[in-house]
Amino acid sequence: MKSLKKEIFKRTIILILLMISIFGILTSLFFYQYRIKNIYNLLKTKNSDVSNFIRAYFKKFYIEVEYLSRLREVRLAPFLNEKERKRALYAFKLFQEIDKDINYVYSGYKNKMLLINNYTPPPGFDPTIRPWYRAAIKSFPNISQGIPYREIKTKEWLVSISKALVDDRGKITGVISIDTSINKIIKKLNEKSFLNLSNFIIRDDGLIIVCHNKLNLNKNFIDEYNVERKIFNKSNGFFEYYKNHVKILAYFTKLKNLGWIVITVIDKNTVLLPIIKKIIFIFLIVSIISVILGIFYTRIIYKEILSSLDILHSNVREIVNGNVENIKKAEYPFKEFAEIKENIENLTKNALYKKNKELQELNALLKKMALTDKLTGLYNRYKFNEELKKEMERFKRYNNPFCLIMFDIDNFKQVNDTYGHDMGDKVLKEIAKITTQTIRKTDIASRWGGEEFMIICPNTFLKEGIQTAQRLRKKIESHNFGIDRKVTISVGISEYNDENIKIDELLKDVDDKLYQAKKMGKNTVVYQINLIAKYL
Ligand code: GH3
Ligand code: MG
Ligand code: MG
Repeated sequence: MKSLKKEIFKRTIILILLMISIFGILTSLFFYQYRIKNIYNLLKTKNSDVSNFIRAYFKKFYIEVEYLSRLREVRLAPFLNEKERKRALYAFKLFQEIDKDINYVYSGYKNKMLLINNYTPPPGFDPTIRPWYRAAIKSFPNISQGIPYREIKTKEWLVSISKALVDDRGKITGVISIDTSINKIIKKLNEKSFLNLSNFIIRDDGLIIVCHNKLNLNKNFIDEYNVERKIFNKSNGFFEYYKNHVKILAYFTKLKNLGWIVITVIDKNTVLLPIIKKIIFIFLIVSIISVILGIFYTRIIYKEILSSLDILHSNVREIVNGNVENIKKAEYPFKEFAEIKENIENLTKNALYKKNKELQELNALLKKMALTDKLTGLYNRYKFNEELKKEMERFKRYNNPFCLIMFDIDNFKQVNDTYGHDMGDKVLKEIAKITTQTIRKTDIASRWGGEEFMIICPNTFLKEGIQTAQRLRKKIESHNFGIDRKVTISVGISEYNDENIKIDELLKDVDDKLYQAKKMGKNTVVYQINLIAKYL
């Protein structure tokens, strides 16, 4: 059988483990979902921030380029005089001063002339082959979508917004361009960025215009990262891609007027790692709480229930073993225990009482079953009754009559009174001895009680029975008991010859005859009421 303590301990441990698993998994799942959702939201918010910023940042360049492209002195500079060209340069200077985001404002012309403030182009400089110039020609009559390029002298990365210039007849004369530094944009973006979020600005054909890593500038985002082109058919949305086998989460927004796409990305690993760390931490906390709760729970069980149960257990054992003095006194905190204890005690008391009673009955039976009378050595009344019943059964079977003789010592009280109780006992013993010597070996003599005796004479007719009775009476009468007086007996005798006679009737009959013998003067045998057999 299992031990309750061990079992409770085992089950508590299982419960703790279950609690850790269930609560741990649930909180981790909840936390994971919550954090991931947060990350997605963050990505989206940051992206919209950057998009708004870029939109505003470049919109003014567009307006500025548009405005400058309409100035006569800018459009037709190669055909104007020095004074008018200076006016154009002054306009450039003005814009540059007003808008600090502008790096350069300049225009290049078909005749390779370059109009720019504070810049001396390298020898042999040909504006018409520069990327900004080509982009404007390509986008004509619209403003070019913007193109990143490296400034020829400083090698600085710039984005140029350019537009082709036309003469009054609509013929292209050159290109006006405003440059802004990519570094400047990145710096501004960095102010808006945190964690390890980074941003890309790409053209709708995938060309990277702005990004942190300058090595990626002018590369194609779509080709570089194997991103599906159709993702960008929508105006915004989430997507994922791999960079060096690392999963990247991304959100993009299309800037309609610019035709650019702003992409905000985050490396999934750097997102997951802190989440996993947090989850482990949560697991640990949950485990610690579960263990503390478990220990607390077992302590309560042990202290309140098991200790009482322990005492109850040992007390019941002591009660059962009969060591009542070893019973410990205990306050049972629960009424059920107190009731169990009380009931067990009552039960035990009842059991003891019952045992006692059984023992008493058994003792009585043993006493009864002791066959002989202590004083005379004759059969006692119990054994006599048994023998009488047997004899009656035998008659029923063989139809052999038997005689029942009952005798009582005459005036025995006087013997006691005169010679003392010891002498009385002696006389009783002597009479018993004479009786056994006088009757047949098959006859059964017994002490019926006090100074009364019974003799069963099996297989004996009344006549023979009377002879035996007379012989006995005479022997006693003539016996010297060592006292100066005779001792006599009165005798009743019955023959049992009818199986319908019950034992009580037989006993009454013989007793009646003995009584009659007394009445008739004692020292007599009566075998029939009113008939004395004294002298038979
Ligand atoms: P009765 O002739 O009418 O039988 O008179 P009784 O005196 O013999 O009869 P009673 O019934 O008056 O007295 C019987 C006496 O037998 C009284 C009692 O003290 C005595 N007795 C009974 N058993 C014993 C015994 O075991 N030892 C002794 N010494 N006396 C006994
Ligand atoms: Mg008597
Ligand atoms: Mg008597």
